[in-house]
Amino acid sequence: MPMMTAKEYEESLRKLNLVVYMFGERIKNVVDNPILRPSLNAVAKTYELAHVPEHEDLMTATSHLTGKKINRFTHIHQSTTDLVKKSKMGRLLGRKTGCCFQRCVGMDSLNALSIVTHAIDAKKGTPYNKRFLKFLEHVQENDLTCDGAMTDPKGDRSLPPHKQVDPDLYVHVVEERKDGIVVRGAKAHQTGATNSHEIIVMPTVAMKEEDADYAVSFALPSDAEGIYYIMGRQSCDTRKLEGGKMDQGNLYYGGQEALVVFDNVFVPWDRVFMYKDYEFVGQLVESFAAYHRQSYACKVGVGDVIIGASQTIAEYNGAEKASHIKDKIIEMNHLNETLYCGCISCASEGHKTSSGTYLVNILLANIHKQNVTRFPFEISRLAQDIAGGLMVTLPSEKDLESPETGKWIEKYYKTRPDVKTRDRMRILRLIENLTLGTAAVGYLTESMHGAGSPQAQRIMIARNVNMEEKKKAAKTLCGITD
Ligand code: SF4
Ligand code: FE
Repeated sequence: MPMMTAKEYEESLRKLNLVVYMFGERIKNVVDNPILRPSLNAVAKTYELAHVPEHEDLMTATSHLTGKKINRFTHIHQSTTDLVKKSKMGRLLGRKTGCCFQRCVGMDSLNALSIVTHAIDAKKGTPYNKRFLKFLEHVQENDLTCDGAMTDPKGDRSLPPHKQVDPDLYVHVVEERKDGIVVRGAKAHQTGATNSHEIIVMPTVAMKEEDADYAVSFALPSDAEGIYYIMGRQSCDTRKLEGGKMDQGNLYYGGQEALVVFDNVFVPWDRVFMYKDYEFVGQLVESFAAYHRQSYACKVGVGDVIIGASQTIAEYNGAEKASHIKDKIIEMNHLNETLYCGCISCASEGHKTSSGTYLVNILLANIHKQNVTRFPFEISRLAQDIAGGLMVTLPSEKDLESPETGKWIEKYYKTRPDVKTRDRMRILRLIENLTLGTAAVGYLTESMHGAGSPQAQRIMIARNVNMEEKKKAAKTLCGITD
């Protein structure tokens, strides 16, 4: 079964036995839970579109291992064309879901590990790449969703992993056995965790020899014994329990994040891809981060939705011809397409690594993500400017449906005769969702902190810019000879 349908994906999740907690209670049926369901729907879209002929070119690829047609989310990039298609796929899915569709973290982990397992083996004669490729084939053949788990809780930021008062604040090895290792710790902010079949764990910061026990990477089925999920809550999340059709804003899709706890979890050796190889942690973190910063192409697609919503409310309000509104829409498009330039350029300027995997241009991927930490906030500000205050003072759907109050809402929130008050409320709720509600987790805070906070990109920009070349260019022009 190299490619699942959306329905098959849903059924495959039903078979998992995840230990999930939310609002202080164990969630037995994760798949049908109304708070979590929209996030599942968003991942399911990555399966659905792979079967749509119009999107096949972006959504599928040919496996370099088996030659079979696979979902691009399980693919190892074989060219810059693959990388560019990945960016375009991100925009497409962001536009179709209006939220975080979660599956990119796993794809980015697979690609980073394909490079780094190869690099460690070349230097140390270890068997990681062979193990990794076996795991990759399992992922491709079963069309699995993987959670890429990098961010540790990190405790006291001034201390390295081995100096933390509580040693579990970074995931580490607690026991080495003949048949594998036992690990303990947690990963925070795990996007799409309960919608995943597998968890790929990687270290989160560059390490020295003293941190060797923390230099570990492995993959586990998401329902392996000893793994616990505690769901993060999102602004306005309980609106999903109200059963309405409007107040959620986005009626179908959403994201999710969880704290994932590894409580003495056993990992067999064939699932271990890095073991105490502290000198390669930096490369793994950097390659994963570069790929994931490229993945923020998703926000361009969500930007498309927010711009479309802003234009729609302007038209509903009869304000679309005002020159300042037109100018604000132009500005939103300018910012959004500038983001698009970034995710396309880091892909088309990618290069082949010694493993054969193509990696994005690291400098440009970091420039792109740095822009993503800013532009969606400005786009959201402009959307709120155009939407007006009603976006947050609007009565509920139940008030619209009520015989006592519905008539007044209809009357006083009416704009043009051809615009239904109900539709005006719907689009305002969507803008609210994207800039203040559940989707703001993905469009705003995740834009800021996902794939590394702004400062992480600035460090990489400083490291990757060729300053000598720039100095030489300047000096040559004014006649300085060193
Ligand atoms: Fe993918 Fe974007 Fe969500 Fe990250 S924020 S997992 S890149 S959709
Ligand atoms: Fe993310």
